[in-house]
Amino acid sequence: MDLKAFFKMNYGLYIISSKDGEGAAGCVVNTLTQVTAEPPKVMLAIHKDNRTTQAILNSGVFAATVLTQDTPMELIGRFGFQSSREVDKFQGYEVKEDKNGLPWLTRQMAARFSCRVLDRMDAGTHYLFLAQVEEAETLSQDEPMTYSYYHAVKNGRTPPKASSYQPEESPKARGWRCKICGYVLDAEELPPDFVCPICKKGAEFFEKL
Ligand code: FE
Repeated sequence: MDLKAFFKMNYGLYIISSKDGEGAAGCVVNTLTQVTAEPPKVMLAIHKDNRTTQAILNSGVFAATVLTQDTPMELIGRFGFQSSREVDKFQGYEVKEDKNGLPWLTRQMAARFSCRVLDRMDAGTHYLFLAQVEEAETLSQDEPMTYSYYHAVKNGRTPPKASSYQPEESPKARGWRCKICGYVLDAEELPPDFVCPICKKGAEFFEKL
């Protein structure tokens, strides 16, 4: 099987958020799709191990925002490569709440949706949630981020829990690579107190290329 064929599929990038008794959680996915128009329904594929998934299972609702091309990598690093079990990802960002009380980020977002889960399918490593859209709002006319733009222009990486993850992505870079998020520091020596600018992990998580 030619796994490179999967790189030809097109996606956007989204922040999914939810909330339960343990608090708010959020993460980045590329696997949110509209499936019907009347009534509007979406499908979300999300890894079972994500704290956000646990919150969706507990609450039955999630919010989604569409990232724009100017979304900073630091925001994607926070929501895509850290865990809501360890950090409050929304801390420090301008946040609003939807009708279900779920937080959503207001900056660098093209649109937002509030979704109520109708059904769930077990897809192995991931759940597929079918959800009805209860609120939808356009937030800006800026270009939405596509998955290929994220990889090609932003030099973004794919975390292991993403549906589209493939190990050993073009290891042609030189220097030191973060084993968590794939960030590459182009340097001969890695400072011992170095902290990854994307996922905030320390020097012990870096490997020499
Ligand atoms: Fe990192």
